[in-house]
Amino acid sequence: MPGLRLAGKNTFITGAAGGIGLETSILFAQEGANVLLADISEAALEKAVNKVKEFLPSGSEQKIVGLKVDVSKEEDVKKAIESLDAQGGVDVVFNNAGIMHADDADAVDTPEKIWDLTHNINVKGVWFGSKHAVLSFRRNNKTTGSVINTASVVALVGSATPQLAYTASKGAVLALTRELAIVHAREGFRFNSLCPAPLNTPLLQDWLGDDQAKRHRREVHFPTGRFGEAIEQARGVLWLASDESGFYNGQELVIDGGMTKAYVTPE
Ligand code: NAD
Repeated sequence: MPGLRLAGKNTFITGAAGGIGLETSILFAQEGANVLLADISEAALEKAVNKVKEFLPSGSEQKIVGLKVDVSKEEDVKKAIESLDAQGGVDVVFNNAGIMHADDADAVDTPEKIWDLTHNINVKGVWFGSKHAVLSFRRNNKTTGSVINTASVVALVGSATPQLAYTASKGAVLALTRELAIVHAREGFRFNSLCPAPLNTPLLQDWLGDDQAKRHRREVHFPTGRFGEAIEQARGVLWLASDESGFYNGQELVIDGGMTKAYVTPE
């Protein structure tokens, strides 16, 4: 499949069973990659793998595999990434799994257990994925490798609708990604963050439900007047994963319809 943007690359995607992770899995597969889809939800994972396979050209020998992984457990992440050694080792790691808990609130009301749960998944999960990406790149003598970590616009701008544990966790993702990018630059390993704005995915939409006031409170800040779509994030991730972004390192790719650059938005 010469000409495809990820031809022959081995890719590992967490939170792959829904939202941004699933759209990215589809795009990676369409661009010729082998995709290891990792998610904590086995039922959703099975559906996701079948969906991704629908997009493969007939006769394709690409490997599209699902694996139950809890990113907050190092052993799960290690085993998953090591499983790709048999096919030459991982080339691209997308540490995307994340949660935003309904009980996450402000400094006063956020329960400590929600803080710890959020940070175990959103921060430790990204650390484990990054750590085992580096170990795998080295073990398989890679001279290039791309790691993409999902943060959020709330790591860049303050919000009066607080979710303090989530916001702090995404700030940590930006900081650790930036440092890893510098530490590993001479080895050819790139680390970048993705900062999505609020999206039409279950993570946010289930939480907003039918509450029109809550929805409007967010939509009004978009110059475009709408939430983003997961596929719009996935297209950015594809660029970060491919060699086209070879000189892009340690950065925050903000895909937000202009939200973080806006003061007063159009009526
Ligand atoms: P989503 O809820 O649609 O998908 C997240 C996936 O992660 C789910 O399939 C879920 O089962 C999985 N997951 C949850 N905990 C896990 C764990 N411990 N181990 C492995 N998998 C786990 O969410 P999404 O909107 O696609 O979000 C993906 C990423 O984007 C998250 O990191 C989220 O914080 C971030 N983000 C989302 C938005 C938004 O508005 N949706 C905005 C900014 C950033």
